[in-house]
Order: sequence, then C-alpha cells, then structure tokens
Amino acid sequence: MSDFADSPAVRRLVDWNLERLESLAAEYDTPLYVMDLDRVKENYGRFSAAFPDAHVMYAAKAHTGKAVLEAVLEVGGTIECAAWGELQRSIDAGADPNELQYTAVNPPDHDLDYATDLAVDNPGLTITIGAVDTLERLADRGYDGRIAIRINPGIGTGHHEKVATGADAKFGIPYERVPEVADRVREAFDLVGLHAHAGSGVLTAGLEDHCRAISRIGEMARRVGDEDLEFVDVGGGYGVPYREDDEPLDLVKTSNMVREAVGDLDAQLKLEPGRYVVADAGLILSEVNTIKDAPDTTVVGIDASLATLIRPAMFGSYHPMRNVSAPEREPHEVTVGGPVCTSADVFAHDRPIARPERGDVVAIGNAGSYGYELASQFHSQPRPAEVALEDGKDRVVRRRETLEDVTRVERESGQ
Ligand SMILES: *Cc1c(COP(=O)(O)O)cnc(C)c1O
Repeated sequence: MSDFADSPAVRRLVDWNLERLESLAAEYDTPLYVMDLDRVKENYGRFSAAFPDAHVMYAAKAHTGKAVLEAVLEVGGTIECAAWGELQRSIDAGADPNELQYTAVNPPDHDLDYATDLAVDNPGLTITIGAVDTLERLADRGYDGRIAIRINPGIGTGHHEKVATGADAKFGIPYERVPEVADRVREAFDLVGLHAHAGSGVLTAGLEDHCRAISRIGEMARRVGDEDLEFVDVGGGYGVPYREDDEPLDLVKTSNMVREAVGDLDAQLKLEPGRYVVADAGLILSEVNTIKDAPDTTVVGIDASLATLIRPAMFGSYHPMRNVSAPEREPHEVTVGGPVCTSADVFAHDRPIARPERGDVVAIGNAGSYGYELASQFHSQPRPAEVALEDGKDRVVRRRETLEDVTRVERESGQ
C-alpha cells in the first residue's frame, strides 16, 4: 500500500498522454469511456494510506464496472453497496460477501430478500438501516445479524444540493431518536456500528462543515456506547478538483480533521469514498462532427451527449475538456454540445479550447465517477464502449452497445 502513498494527489486532463488517447479513439471509435485501473489502485491506496488504522471501503455506486471492482479488491479494498445489484456484482468480481456492507435506503423487497438470503451463509455481511421500517422488514425475514444504524446528522455538505444528503430527512434515523433505535437494534440484532454519509464532492473549503457532521456521529457513538461498537462509519463525500485551478483535497489535513472530529473512540473508524477513487481515473473521448458560427459563440457538436455523461445537465457540473487531436492550436471560446434535443445537452459554454475542427477528438476529463454509471439509452443511443488501461496495456471491458441491445427487452416481449 505504501507504494501508493506518494502517488500524485490529482491527475488532471493535461497529464494524460494525448497520443495514446488519440490512438484509443481511432481503435475503439467514439464516444468512448477510458478507465485507468492503475490510477484507481493509486487513488484507493493513497486514500487508505492517509487513514492508516481506519477501514476504507469503496462505495461501488460511483462506478460498478467489474474491472474497477476487481482493481479495488486487488489492492485489498472492501466494498460498500447500496443496492442488491451492487452486492451481486461485487461478489462476481471476487468480493467476500462476509466483508460487504449494504446500505439500505428505502430498500425494495427484492433487495432485502437478496441481502438476507446472502447473510444466511455469510454472517459477516453488514446491513445499514436508515429507517425503523427496515428493521421490521429484516426481522420479518428472520434476519438477526449485523446492523449499522445510519444517523441523520442534521448537517448536509457537498457540491450540490442534490447530493447533500446529511440533513435530508430521506437519509438516516433522526439524530435524537438514535439512542432509542440503538436499544431496539440491540434487542433483536447485532448492533455493530453507526454510519452517516453527509454529502458529496467536499473539497478543502467544505471540510469544516463536513467535519461538523462527523463530530455529531462521534458524539452519538459515545452516547450509545462506542465500546460496544465495532465501527463508526463516516461515509464518503471526498471531492476531486474538477476545475483546472481547484486544489486537490489535502488528505493528511483531511485525515487529521476527521480523526479530531470523531474524537476518542474505542470503535474503528470506517470511510466510504466513491468519487475520490475513480473520478480522475476516467475520461470520455468524443469526436467533433459540427462546427457552427453563431452570432455570440461558436458551437462545437460532438458525438457524446447527456446520455453519455449526465453530470453537466443534472448538477451543472464542470468537466475539463481538451482537443486531443490538435492541442497546439490557438484556444478559441466555444460552446460544446451533443446530439440530444434539449438545451441541457451542453458540456461547456464559452470555454477556451484549442480551436476544434470537424473530425478532431476531444477529451472530457474526470468522468470516472457517476459517468458510465448514469449513462442511458436516451434518443435510442446505444451506450458507449469502455476501455480499461492497466500495466501499459488496454482492453475493452464493456463493448459498445448496438441498436439490438437497445431493443432487446422489447423484442423479447414479442414486439
Ligand atoms: C454515494 C455514497 C457514498 C460515496 O459518495 P462519494 O461522494 O462518491 O464519495 C458513500 N456512502 C454512501 C452510503 C453513499 O450513498
């Protein structure tokens, strides 16, 4: 793990080898997801090294591709899952079900059936509950195993209101009700931990708020008796610099602040970074198909769309972009959009990019988290291929979909 402690805190889009990217686009066509598994391992390893006696689980929902899960497992990681499909895919990737943690948020019956069936032979599985109803539903299924209680710390943090979960009533047991729920859990289950996940995309500036939420978890752990808890899980939410001039998170400072915020505890500290592990390990390559001079701007049309990467449309997120084919050209302020018929399908407004021409390949950076994971088939667009880089080699880990993939479930229904 120590090999990773010194890996760079950030990989920016300018750090990628453009010739390599251009040849990947030529070989595998566009739009194309590229995922560098060596960087995934570095990110997981560097994060773990900053929290030496904590237990760091990768939050699978940021990127549930099998190759990514395998990479995390290879460097000794364990996995936090938020749905039955993520549990199943983690097991397929080689995870020991006894080490998985399942965070149940308004869990559908099928998810609880799956998790409780899994726990019969794998009593190490931990289920995190955020509602008393979930406890009752687990008991109905004969479950009496390991439970962590998700606390609502009453403080949300993060880069966007849609991901600041800490104060949202949807998530976790209301703070003041936690001791009573803890008693209830202890009566019928094995209470192993407390959990909270306050938000997402926290950078150095947001650390103080983030740590205020965390200190509430530590406080509650002491209230319910941390000597009887195995762990206190402070969730994920650690951000990456999307803008070229954003500073990366200082992990040493983060680690010190988190430790100080949770305070003295007998229980082990757990963390669940998702984005941090995969964001800068991934990018999208896309081809320019249209250049249009409009009165106020130049519009650059590309073959990636909000169906490929929805973050700009959904969260207003900034993603760095580069002209991979001709980085030496003069920068030109352009508006970059895809083929989907909504004005939300825009990756950049008035962004200086080395003057794109039709046929150029552009890269959209920091697309490794919540990228392919949220891709859709909107506009009957088959989803892109994904290529993994590892040990200097590349391989397709998800082939490009075809229109047959898009229509398969209809055809199987007799349409
Ligand atoms: C989404 C999520 C995470 C990971 O969040 P990131 O912002 O990607 O680090 C961790 N824990 C839980 C319970 C989550 O829902």
